[in-house]
Amino acid sequence: MGEFESALNLFENKIKSLRTKVPLKTFNKNKLAKLEINKFYFEDKEVDRVMVVLRAAGCEHYKKTGGCSMCSHFNGTILDGSISNENYISQWNSVIDGSCLEKPIENFNLDNYPIVCLYNLGSLLNRNEIAIGAVKYIFLSLNKFKKIRKVIIESRVEYVNREILAAINEYYDGLVEVGVGVESTDKTIRQLCHHKGLEDLEIVKKAVDILHEFGYKALAYVNFKPCFLTEQESINDAIKTGVDCFNLGFDAISIEPTSLQEYSLVSFLNTIGYYRVPWLWSLQNIVKGIYDKTKKQKLDIRLGGYFDEQVLSGSQGEGFVGRNEIFPYQNSANCKNCSPEFIENIKRFNVTYNINDLCNINKCETCYKDWEDACKVKDRRSISQRALDILGNSDN
Ligand code: SF4
Ligand SMILES: [Zn+2]
Repeated sequence: MGEFESALNLFENKIKSLRTKVPLKTFNKNKLAKLEINKFYFEDKEVDRVMVVLRAAGCEHYKKTGGCSMCSHFNGTILDGSISNENYISQWNSVIDGSCLEKPIENFNLDNYPIVCLYNLGSLLNRNEIAIGAVKYIFLSLNKFKKIRKVIIESRVEYVNREILAAINEYYDGLVEVGVGVESTDKTIRQLCHHKGLEDLEIVKKAVDILHEFGYKALAYVNFKPCFLTEQESINDAIKTGVDCFNLGFDAISIEPTSLQEYSLVSFLNTIGYYRVPWLWSLQNIVKGIYDKTKKQKLDIRLGGYFDEQVLSGSQGEGFVGRNEIFPYQNSANCKNCSPEFIENIKRFNVTYNINDLCNINKCETCYKDWEDACKVKDRRSISQRALDILGNSDN
C-alpha cells in the first residue's frame, strides 16, 4: 500500500471512531433544525435572506465513510431512524404558516425575503436523503411566492443531474442556485485533508454545465484550511481553488473558513494540538489573490459563516452545551482584541462585495506579527506523511 492509501486508511479509521462518539439524541421530526434571517448581497444591493435548515436524515457520505474532516452536520441529524415525506412536509408547512417561529416576527412571509436558502444538512438532490415527493412539494409551494428572487440549495456534486433538476423546474419557475462542495481542486488535499470522496473534477464540470442548461446558478464551496496544511499552504490552495472554480464555470464561490464542531476530525486534531482554526487576516490575502489572478472587476465571492443573523427557531441540542447542535463552538479567529472588528468587516464585505470593507482595519499590535510568523511556517514532509505522523501517533 502506498503512502497516500495508508494515510487515507488511517484517516478513515480515525474519523469513523470519532463519529461513534456522537450522542444519540431524539429530535422532533416535524420541527426544523434552524430558521434564521440575515443580510445578503444580491444584484448590487443588500437584501434580506431567510435560511431554512430542515431536520434531516443525514448525509450519505457521512454514513458510508465517516464524511468530511471539517463537517459535523450529522450532530443535528437523525442517526437512528428516517424522516418521512410527511415529516419534511410538516416542517416546511411550519415555515409557510410561521408556526416554526420561536421568536415571533411581525407578518412573517417568505415574500419578504428575496433570497431563500433551503438546506438539509446534506444533499437536497440526493433521493436517498430526501424523497423527490418532498422536494417537489416544497418547490411547488415556493412557486406561490413571486417576490423570491433566488432559492439556494446544497448538494454533493454527484447528485446534480438532469432528472432531478427537471423535476424542480417543472414545479418552480424561479431561479435556483445549487451550492456544491468542491473544497479544493488539488486531489490530495480534497481526498485526504477534506476526505471529500470526490475523485474526479470532471464530474464537477459536468454538474456546472447541467445547472447552466436549466438557467440555474452554480456556487462552489471552497473550504479554507483543512487539516494537515500550513497557513500559507491553505491560503495558496484557497486562491488556486477559487480561480479554478471560476474557470470551471461557477457563477459564485463561497470561501468557508474551517470552524470547529464537536466530533469532527479537525476538532479532534485541535484538541491534541495539531490544528489551529484559520486566521482571519488570511482571508484578505485570499480574496485579493483571487482578484489578482482572475483580473476581473467584480466577482461573486462570499465568506461563509459571517452574516448578521437573527435565529428565529432552532432546537437546543442537549450535550452541545446549550447551543444549537449544528453551530460551531469555535470559528476562525485572530486574537480577541481584533477579531470582533474583523468579523464586522467580513459581514460588511458580504453585503457590499467591496474589498476595501474587508481590508479596512489596522494591523493589530497583539496578533498581526503572529499571523505573519504563522505564514512563514514550512513543512517539508508530504501531506500523506504528515497525516501518517499525526494520526499514527494518536490513540485518543
Ligand atoms: S460537508 Fe457535505 S458531504 Fe461532507 S460530510 Fe458534511 S454534509 Fe456530507
Ligand atoms: Zn489581533
